[in-house]
Amino acid sequence: MTEESKTIQQFEYKAEMKQLLNLIVHSLYTHKEIFLRELISNASDALNKIRYRLLTDKDVLDAEAELAITITIDEKAQTFSISDTGTGMTQDELINNIGTVARSGTLDFLDKVKEGKDTVSEHLIGQFGVGFYSVFMVADEVTIETRHADRDSKGYRWTSKGEGNFSVEEIALDHRGTTISFKLKDEAKEFCHEYTIKSTIQKYSNFADFPINLGTERVNTVEALWRKNSQDIKDDELNEFYKFISNDFDNPLGHLQLNIEGTGANFRALLFVPKTAPVDLLRMQQEKSIHLYTNKVLIMDDCKDLLPEYLRFVKGVVDTSDLPLNVSREVVQSSPVMDKIRSILTSKILNLLKSWVNKDKEKYMTFYKSFGPLFKTGVNSDYNNRDKVIELLRFETSLRPGGELISLKEYIAGMKDKQEAIYYLSGDNRGVLESNPNLEYFKKNEIDVLLLSDPVDVFVVPTITEYDKKPLKSIDKEDIDLLPEDKVEKPEDNLSNELIALFKDTLNDKVGNVIVSKRLVDSPVTLVASKDGMDPQMEKMMKFMQRDAQFPVTKKIMEVNTSHPLIQNLSRKYIADSTDPMLARCIELLYEGAMYIDGNLPASADFIKSMFDIMKEATN
Ligand code: ADP
Repeated sequence: MTEESKTIQQFEYKAEMKQLLNLIVHSLYTHKEIFLRELISNASDALNKIRYRLLTDKDVLDAEAELAITITIDEKAQTFSISDTGTGMTQDELINNIGTVARSGTLDFLDKVKEGKDTVSEHLIGQFGVGFYSVFMVADEVTIETRHADRDSKGYRWTSKGEGNFSVEEIALDHRGTTISFKLKDEAKEFCHEYTIKSTIQKYSNFADFPINLGTERVNTVEALWRKNSQDIKDDELNEFYKFISNDFDNPLGHLQLNIEGTGANFRALLFVPKTAPVDLLRMQQEKSIHLYTNKVLIMDDCKDLLPEYLRFVKGVVDTSDLPLNVSREVVQSSPVMDKIRSILTSKILNLLKSWVNKDKEKYMTFYKSFGPLFKTGVNSDYNNRDKVIELLRFETSLRPGGELISLKEYIAGMKDKQEAIYYLSGDNRGVLESNPNLEYFKKNEIDVLLLSDPVDVFVVPTITEYDKKPLKSIDKEDIDLLPEDKVEKPEDNLSNELIALFKDTLNDKVGNVIVSKRLVDSPVTLVASKDGMDPQMEKMMKFMQRDAQFPVTKKIMEVNTSHPLIQNLSRKYIADSTDPMLARCIELLYEGAMYIDGNLPASADFIKSMFDIMKEATN
């Protein structure tokens, strides 16, 4: 037996891995070329790791080897191989890293791809790394040979048919790095043609930081695009660079190039705003955002500290000369230079967005529709730029068609003469909001109201207490301002007073108070929050978040529309017989109906049953 084949260990993939493999091979087959992007990206990562290590540690295997990627193809044999002089893998890494789903959420994404139409999947695929396993789209059996950069490492060979298991064995290997090789499936044989390889590399990996050689010919242009003068950069180059660093399939919505000197920080940056958001904006945190370079050497491929959370959608590169190369991540994170860069980037990005507002509204709206829910949170998290963020907020309003968004400034410009506040109403969606009884007075008087249906709004808007000296007010609260002509006190009305007293008696401690409404037009009753009570939207949200816990709900105030026909009928019944049990039943039902509209009715089955009972009697 030779030294090489003495121990071949067999391993099983984890269940989720098998599922992933199955999906890759059967669902992504229309995007075969992705495998090349994934393999090159892994090779670049491995090269980046060794380049970073070499800055401080020359005691590694092949310390002088050129950092490069080499692809070898053989058209006749239909074979393909890709080698890198990167950091290589230890046996443990080989077993554990190859064979697990690295990014959480990858399986969810793949499920979506499977369900989705082709156009959808193309966009989705760009958002996650299918990783090494994409290679099984083009090969039935794959071999990895690797040796880690540590001097005392050994060589290993990994092989798998991608069907459920893989094997690992020790082999003699005298150099550092990794080679992945396989025979191409017949339906993927174009990847042993020079032309296909070259054009795919140019499409996806032209900006890899290391030379990519096809045989002996160098295929990619290695250049730090962000170091070029902006007028020398072509749009195509920008788009491709963006796609390369972001894995997006689409062109970016816009970009920003910076060359900052002598303001407490020296750096260049090339930043992009994507067109579309990931399926789940909150996943944004897991996405790589800013690649941090120090003098052209990548020191972090996802530097979260360079941008505040609410601008996390921005992708790009920052290259500074102010950080030493060989510092630890902790030092980088706590460096004052980082704070300075972060604050400059933040204000430049806000300026870019503002420039879109002024010059290209449509572009701004595309941005806002994609990233608005994340962006808005800046109102609460970025105190220094709070006012700028507020200027950039956009809202639907009751007097404008759905989908049309305006700023607070535009709202103020359209205010009625005697209008004292900026009004808002929040709820699940526009339909629900439009039928909210609390909007009736405003509709009748053509007073515009901001309609908030993004769940994030209730955490943002109530914290803006004032804009341009006008207070922001929820119209779900008791103390709405009426127009001066409606403020005139009506003479005492005994009948109304008695009826209101009956409402109070019947509802007892279910409501905080019952009052005659000045705002209702078409509805008989409504529930509002008290003046000093918790903002009703916030309360709804808190209740939602503590679904299981009993959230203490503050008592609402019931407003009764005494000119509504239904209430007038009740008055008549009351005059005829003030002890008629139907009165109490109707009052209960009115209350539950209002709770229902409010989204707070716990047991709607009882409500429906009472309603049916009353209908039965009415139709008798
Ligand atoms: P991802 O790159 O998203 O982590 P992959 O499935 O592509 O997922 O790769 C899994 C892991 O395998 C990598 O994170 C890396 O640790 C290791 N790996 C893959 N290719 C190489 C390579 N060429 N050199 C060194 N390590 C590699």
